[in-house]
Amino acid sequence: MKIAVASGKGGTGKTTVSVNLYRTIGKYFDKNIRLVDCDVEEPNDAIFFHDLKLVEKKEVHQLIPKIDVEACTFCRKCVEWCEFNAITIVKSLGFAEVNNDLCHSCGACSVACEFGAITEYPQPLGIISHFDTGIGNGFTEGRLEIGSAMQTMLIKEVKKEVSQNSSVIIYDAPPGTSCPVVETVSDADYIVLVTEPTPFGLHDLKITVDLLTDLAKPFGVIVNKAGLGSDEVYSYLDKKNIEFLGDIPFTKEYAANYASGNIFENIPTEIEGTYMDIAEELMSKRVLL
Ligand code: SF4
Ligand code: SF4
Repeated sequence: MKIAVASGKGGTGKTTVSVNLYRTIGKYFDKNIRLVDCDVEEPNDAIFFHDLKLVEKKEVHQLIPKIDVEACTFCRKCVEWCEFNAITIVKSLGFAEVNNDLCHSCGACSVACEFGAITEYPQPLGIISHFDTGIGNGFTEGRLEIGSAMQTMLIKEVKKEVSQNSSVIIYDAPPGTSCPVVETVSDADYIVLVTEPTPFGLHDLKITVDLLTDLAKPFGVIVNKAGLGSDEVYSYLDKKNIEFLGDIPFTKEYAANYASGNIFENIPTEIEGTYMDIAEELMSKRVLL
């Protein structure tokens, strides 16, 4: 079962929920579990594991085309084939160049060019690391090369690297509703949306709900920092008939633990109980898949 944990905006507690669900399911329900940090621009799940052991680390690359202007006839066929507008050809200036930031390494231009003017060279995309956490099958993270805009491509690579032998995989998705989120949730069996009971939380929740509805993905909602804001989010869930998975109450003690990276120590009984209930609910869905 693949469970993606997502939220319409950053700062709602998506990472806290991801690592806590991983811990709770791994400890009490199914040891055959892996956590995957797909928030490749800003991976921070690792902060919460104090005894991580690196098992494997590998650099991944994307192939970027380079045009040899000596061989180029400026026929523009590669421009026509490139769906990402990454190639600029100006015959009068003898100019032919690929914009690395726009190139999605699809290889179409190399196939299109009949004059052997295009060669591909590897450019760093990011680093994928596997760790032993002492819980289940461990934890995998992707870390995007600084300056790269190819989050989606790295998330795809991270997923390829994750062994499919785990019976439960938790994806911690990037925040928002853009392509990297769509890529993360694309093969998930169920999505846990994390929101907070504030006008901003509700606004971004609605956008994420629209996205998941368009993608026809099953999902439920956890309200984090419950008790801090208004009841509007609950009315919205009721009205839309959206599955409510549970409340994570706001406590100063737990917020202090979070700020010091200690969310596994001294978990308030109420919060531990909520995670147990949510984990049980999620595991019960496996028989329906
Ligand atoms: S590899 Fe694909 S995206 Fe990149 S320049 Fe060539 S056609 Fe465009
Ligand atoms: S297809 Fe080849 S020859 Fe034609 S413009 Fe592109 S790189 Fe130059």
